[in-house]
Amino acid sequence: MLRCTVLASGSKGNCTVISTGSTRILLDAGLSCREIVKRMRFAGEDPEKIDGLLITHEHQDHIQGVSVLARRWRVPVYFTEGTHRAWARWMTPRQTMSFPAWLETRKQKAAALALAVEESEENLSTQNLTEASLETSEITEAIEIAAAADDPQPLPGEVGGGNDPAYLPAVEHFCAGKPFVIGDIAITPFTIPHDAADPVGFVLEAEGMRIAVATDLGYMPPNVQMQLRRADLLVLESNHDVEMLRDGPYPWAVKQRVLSRVGHLSNDAAGEFLANEFDGHARWIILAHLSESNNLPELARLSAERALQRRSNATGNQVMLATQNTPLESICL
Ligand SMILES: [Zn+2]
Ligand SMILES: [Zn+2]
Repeated sequence: MLRCTVLASGSKGNCTVISTGSTRILLDAGLSCREIVKRMRFAGEDPEKIDGLLITHEHQDHIQGVSVLARRWRVPVYFTEGTHRAWARWMTPRQTMSFPAWLETRKQKAAALALAVEESEENLSTQNLTEASLETSEITEAIEIAAAADDPQPLPGEVGGGNDPAYLPAVEHFCAGKPFVIGDIAITPFTIPHDAADPVGFVLEAEGMRIAVATDLGYMPPNVQMQLRRADLLVLESNHDVEMLRDGPYPWAVKQRVLSRVGHLSNDAAGEFLANEFDGHARWIILAHLSESNNLPELARLSAERALQRRSNATGNQVMLATQNTPLESICL
């Protein structure tokens, strides 16, 4: 039996648990570790028995609880290398000074020093010497910093934990298009169009059953359509109603981002897919990542159900809606 429970879905956090009798996988950890554990227990899934944490991309609503969860429960984290790096950068923010800013600081220091020199006629030669050596050491330091920035950095997690905020007990890298296995679940990651380092969706298969997950994508390219074929359960983004988004509270730039080819799938776009390219196979269709500001559950449901009615070969597909605040009932395949 392949079991799927969406613990949370939306811009405030995403997390889904997929399990068989012997393997348990978390898909994204976009809630706090505490909340994930609470919701897993509520859904009858044992948080002490997570075999792997799969990450789709590094946006906060998908990675919030990764570090704490992986460390506390010693869970291996599966990323693409690009997502891992982006996640590590997010965990270790650095204040990097631009060259003009550095130059300005240096000029100010030099001016202050010159003033001090003017004010003190005594020991002038010694002072000049100090200034010269200070400048030299600052320039050397700047060159070292610039050189270090150009060097490929070691992957976080490869070096020990200690104070490293990006330390993880175990990390596995995967590539989109290359299937791998965790326990008795076969996983195929596939590229999705979204504004992240290396975002993916997943197909998970066990015991002859197939679950496909595609959220956080700006549109539905042919490679994604292909991956969603023959799914028994489809988790599909239905993020926003275009009219509500246009008239809604988001700043213009955010609206443009959501509507772009690397943003999120609208109700219309999800409906378009269900009416045309969808193969009609999935018995369950979970609409996911619904916006709380720019969508209404009834609108998302209506759009999907109308699209399905337009098909001749889609019979008995059950549409469900994943929500932000409560786990969706488990689906057993
Ligand atoms: Zn995202
Ligand atoms: Zn998201």
